[in-house]
Amino acid sequence: MRLFKCQACGQILHFENTLCEKCGHRLAYLPAATTMSALELEGNTPEGDVWKALASPGKLFRLCDNAGHGTCNWLIEADAPGTLCLCCRHNRTIPDVSQDENAEAWRKIEWAKHRLFYSLLRLKLPLATKLEQAETGLAFDFLADSAGPTGPRVMTGHDNGLITIALKEADDAEREKSRVAMHEPYRTLLGHFRHEIGHYFWDRLVQDAGKLEACRALFGDDSIDYGQALQRHYEEGAPADWRSSFVTAYATMHAWEDFAETWAHYMHLVDTLETAAAFSLSTRPRVAEGDELDASVDFDPYRTQPFDRLVESWMPLTIALNSLNRSMGQPDLYPFVLSTPALEKLAFVHGLVHPDAPQ
Ligand SMILES: [Zn+2]
Ligand SMILES: [Zn+2]
Repeated sequence: MRLFKCQACGQILHFENTLCEKCGHRLAYLPAATTMSALELEGNTPEGDVWKALASPGKLFRLCDNAGHGTCNWLIEADAPGTLCLCCRHNRTIPDVSQDENAEAWRKIEWAKHRLFYSLLRLKLPLATKLEQAETGLAFDFLADSAGPTGPRVMTGHDNGLITIALKEADDAEREKSRVAMHEPYRTLLGHFRHEIGHYFWDRLVQDAGKLEACRALFGDDSIDYGQALQRHYEEGAPADWRSSFVTAYATMHAWEDFAETWAHYMHLVDTLETAAAFSLSTRPRVAEGDELDASVDFDPYRTQPFDRLVESWMPLTIALNSLNRSMGQPDLYPFVLSTPALEKLAFVHGLVHPDAPQ
């Protein structure tokens, strides 16, 4: 994620800001320019307020309708059709926000989803809604469990372009309980989005793009019965040596899960590297003899380049970030080890995202 700056006063801004603390300007994100912008009110229309964005002079904008729910700070061009932004227009079902706890859970979910879309747009991945393309489009359902102890429970997952996120995943205590019960080192809303969108892009960039053979060579046979694989995984767990070729234990369940887990890690890696670059973070441990723990992120990890370049920075950076977390008594920021086969799978994802990347 980039760092941003208020065009009116120079204050450093973050992606979720809606008001400049220094100069008081209203703020919003302008996806077409990949920047936060200070806003000035131009006028009112029946469709709502129209704003000038200091980052894009000469154009007029509206705020996404979801700004009214406190779930979005993205802009739409004033004369564009629709009332929802590039990110929110993919929503199919939102929770009943007349209940405060649903509204709060949905807010947390949306801020994670907006970070997902920041990355998808930066990677220039194809995005269509299900209204635009019923078969291949993307939509989201954010669902609360039905009331009562015996009602059906909502499962987070992906099915043919429809991503469902269970509202209870936004409850920190519930999510932590699931994380411990499933023996996972890491469980976040952003992680769920990056995993589920991996299933969506397997459909688009592997299956639809004729890359099944190449994908199977690395991730294994995806035609194995998913239901049986799931049952086996919950009965027997992951093989003891999973670390030697998988990024997580869950990735061993089925080739589809291996791909989605790997895809999520690719997004973790790229976006965290961009944040490091935004802060000009570099590492050069004083006690190190050689330079293998030296890293500086003096490139744009979202743009086309050799995958090795990302890895060479990522490895030393995660050692430093994990050490910082341990100094605060926190779990590791990146509690994973990337084996050579896992890196080869990540390189495959890099190749799907950047078909013209040098090898
Ligand atoms: Zn300002
Ligand atoms: Zn929006």
